[in-house]
This record gives sequence, structure tokens and C-alpha cells, in this order.
Amino acid sequence: MHITVIGSGYVGTTMAACFADLGHQVTAIDIDEAIVEAINDGTAPIDEPGLDDLLETHTQHSLEATTSYDPIPDSDVTFLAIGTPSNPDGSIDLSALEAAAEATGEALADKADRHLVVIKSTVTPMSIQDTLEPAIQRGANNDQVEVGMNPEFLREGSAVADFQNPDKLVFGTNSEWATDQLQAVFEPLLEEQSVPIVDTDPATASMIKYANNAFLASKISLVNDLGNICKEFGLDAYEVMDAIGLDDRISDQFLRSGVGWGGSCFPKDVAAIIAAATQHGYDPALLEAAVEINERQPERLLDLLESHVDLEGARIAVLGLAFKPQTDDIRNSRAIPILESPQKAGADIVAYDPVAIDPMRERFPDVEYAQSVEAALEGSDGALVVTGWDEFATLDEEFDAMATPVVVDGRRIVEPRDGIIYEGLTW
Ligand code: NAD
Repeated sequence: MHITVIGSGYVGTTMAACFADLGHQVTAIDIDEAIVEAINDGTAPIDEPGLDDLLETHTQHSLEATTSYDPIPDSDVTFLAIGTPSNPDGSIDLSALEAAAEATGEALADKADRHLVVIKSTVTPMSIQDTLEPAIQRGANNDQVEVGMNPEFLREGSAVADFQNPDKLVFGTNSEWATDQLQAVFEPLLEEQSVPIVDTDPATASMIKYANNAFLASKISLVNDLGNICKEFGLDAYEVMDAIGLDDRISDQFLRSGVGWGGSCFPKDVAAIIAAATQHGYDPALLEAAVEINERQPERLLDLLESHVDLEGARIAVLGLAFKPQTDDIRNSRAIPILESPQKAGADIVAYDPVAIDPMRERFPDVEYAQSVEAALEGSDGALVVTGWDEFATLDEEFDAMATPVVVDGRRIVEPRDGIIYEGLTW
């Protein structure tokens, strides 16, 4: 098939490369010329394991990128993978996606054959019906254009592997023809493995994505709440969670307590579904509490540091800036409140991350950034571990260079050793 993918960010570039790898002809479209150039050079515009290899293999063969919407009518299916950030009140900001939807419609105005436009972006349940379908039809005014929803569940850091080995595929469509089109897109993948397909309508497909993320975010917040209680009692939350994970109804996944959830999805998606529910007159009390607990975790990490170190004039190493390992994405990273607070208390920060320094420097230009974990620790009065990068697990003699060897670990990644004062956030 010929597939057009509009939006070449984390999701769009991964999809485009993986669809090409499945044997489709793919055109990736983005308004950002630098992104288009990077893809056409065979390099990933984002840091994602395996993506460079796929782009190198398929660019100039079955994958090309452009800033033009002209290839859309010649394709069989168009996916929209545009960002859906939060408005200041937490509600979903559909403006970029709506603009792309209208432009996609305009490109399809004269197409005589049926064409499926699939919303890949995460959108609240009524958004397709109320906003996106009307935007597409404002541009197209063509009853041959149909709209579907195929939410994405990949995780940054393992996006390629997740796309290639999904737990489920959700097809939200209004017709059998549209479901068949989506089935055909994923057919090469379905020939290789058995993947459950959820065949539903677009609004339910949208809600499945929010329920998925709200459940996972709430599970982590519950684990963090219980973890904080464990710490108050001097208990090891990981020992407790390992035991409850033996219960099939709970499962052993997502039971690691720590400094909280961040990234481009959980915070904005939980905020968006809270805002959408509230607008409909429902008070989502549990989701509100999940957010509040999440906000508290960085403060608890800093409180633990302050129980050992007077922050006034202290030099504090912050280890890890990305919202999780294997990505350079800092959106809503827990490192952000952690960089803000000690500075306010008069401390000097020296921050280190193996890949995410550049984006964080744009946001916090006044923070000192170290090029290695050793350089960050040297002469520091305390270290806060914020991202669970593997390289922090092997730290040992590097701690000897600290002025005061206080290590407060928010990810249970550092190995406690003689000669350091080690504090685990919930253990
Ligand atoms: P992103 O911000 O990384 O990428 C969006 C891209 O769209 C950017 O490259 C931007 O230049 C481009 N763009 C904006 N307006 C455009 C237009 N009019 N025409 C063409 N291109 C345009 O976003 P993302 O992280 O890839 O997320 C996309 C959607 O997928 C969001 O709704 C998000 O919630 C959802 N999602 C993201 C993830 C994730 O892990 N990042 C996972 C699942 C779902």
C-alpha cells in the first residue's frame, strides 16, 4: 500500500519507518524542514533505539519525507500523528491537529476513490465527531473521505520494538471497508504474529487510549503512595510490591515506586481526560489524586536530600534529565521540578544525562551541565538520581570524589556501598 503519515515526531517517524519495513510505500509529511531533511538523509530526528537503522535501510527506497501535502491523494491511507498538547487548564489543545486535518481534507477534495484518514494522535472521545471530522470535511467536502481512529500504544525508548510487537491493535471505524483498510495496513505484521484486534467505533477507540494511560499512571501513583507509607515505617516498598505482584489480579508490571511519571503522554493525557470528564459534569476523584501524588514525589526526594544537606550554597548533582531511560525526551520529566527547587533554596546545580542535556539546556540555560557522571559528582555535596540510566547502576568509586557523599535515589538504580550515605525514596 502507499501510506502517507502526517507529523514526523516520535510517533510519526517511528510509524513511517516501521510501515516501510513492513513493505509499504511511505511518504512522511511534516511542516518542519529540518525534520524532513533528516529523514531524507536517513537519520532519525529523535533519539530512539533501532530507528536510525530502519531509516538508513528504507529512505530513498520505500520511504521519503516532504513538507508538501500533494502526495496524499495518491496514497491509499493517511495517518495523522500530530501533537495534542494541553491547554493551560489541562484540556486537550487540538489546534495543530485540526489545522492538519483541514489541510488533509483540502488535499483530498478532488479524489474520486474512497480514502481513509486515520487519527493516530491521542484525542478525547468526542474530538473526532465534534472537531476533526468536520475539519476534514471543511477542506474536502467529499463523501469519499472517511475518518477512523487507531490509537498508538508505543513507549518512547522502545518505540520501534513496541510498534513491531504490539499487545493489541485498536481499529475505531464507522464501516467495514475502513476496518478492512486498517487490517490491510497491518497485514504483514499480523502474518508474523498473533495480535488481538479490537474492532470498535472511533469514540470508543479514543477512550481506550485514555483508559489505558489513566490506568497505568494511577497504578504508579498508587504504588508511590504505598511506597511513601513504607518509607515512613522504615520498610522496603520493593519487597512489599514484589509480594503483591505475585497476585495475578495485580500483576508484577508497573510496581516500581519512585520519583513519579512524566513524559509527553501520561501527564497530558490524564489532564485531558480529567478536563473532558469535568466539562461533562463528572468529578474524576481518583485521577485527581493520582496527579497530586505524582506532584509530591519530587518534593519528597528533595526533602530526603535536605534531611542530610543544607542546600544554601551546596553543590547538588542531578543525575538524569530525560523522563525515562533510552530517550532524550524531557517533556514533563520529573527532573524539571527537581532542577527548579534546589536552585530556589540557594543550591548550585550540576546536571548530567547521557543524551538529554541539549533539550534541558534550552529550558534551563543557567544550570551547569556536566559531560560525564564523574564530572557531575566531583566536589558535589549531594546527588539526586532522577532517571534510571543503566550507567548509574555501576557507579562506585566515582562517589569518592563527592565533597559530601549523600546519594538520594529516586529510581532504585544506584548500588548502596560503604562510604556513602544512601537514601532510597521509598525503600
Ligand atoms: P511530536 O510533537 O513529537 O510530533 C508531532 C509532529 O507534527 C512534529 O514533528 C510537528 O512538526 C508536526 N506537525 C505539526 N503540525 C503539522 C502540520 N500541520 N502538518 C504536518 N506536520 C505537522 O508528537 P508525538 O510525541 O509524536 O505525538 C503525536 C501524537 O501521538 C500525540 O497525540 C500523542 O499524544 C500521541 N502519542 C504519543 C506517544 C509518544 O510516546 N510520544 C505515544 C502514543 C501516542
